[in-house]
Amino acid sequence: MGNIGPTEMLIFLAILLLIFGAAKLPKLARSMGQAGKEFKAGLKEGYQAEDVEGPCPFCGNEIGADAKFCPGCGKPANEVVAEKEKKKTA
Ligand SMILES: [Zn+2]
Repeated sequence: MGNIGPTEMLIFLAILLLIFGAAKLPKLARSMGQAGKEFKAGLKEGYQAEDVEGPCPFCGNEIGADAKFCPGCGKPANEVVAEKEKKKTA
C-alpha cells in the first residue's frame, strides 16, 4: 500500500477520466437516445400486433398477431388495423 506515488495517482485519475469522462458520457447519451427510440417503436409495434390479431374486417379470415398481411385478401396489417378502428368508432 505504501508504494502508490503521485505518478500512479495521475495514471489512476487518467484511467478514471477515460472511463467515466471521455468514453462513458457520449455512450450514455447515445444509449439513452436509442432506448427512447426503441421504447416508442416497441409501443407502436405492440399496439399494432394487438389490433391486427383476429378476423379480417375485409374478408373475415383469421389474422395472426404478428402477421404483416391478411392471409385471405392480402391487405397489409396497417390497412386492417385502420379498417378495424373505423368500424370500432362507427
Ligand atoms: Zn382479409
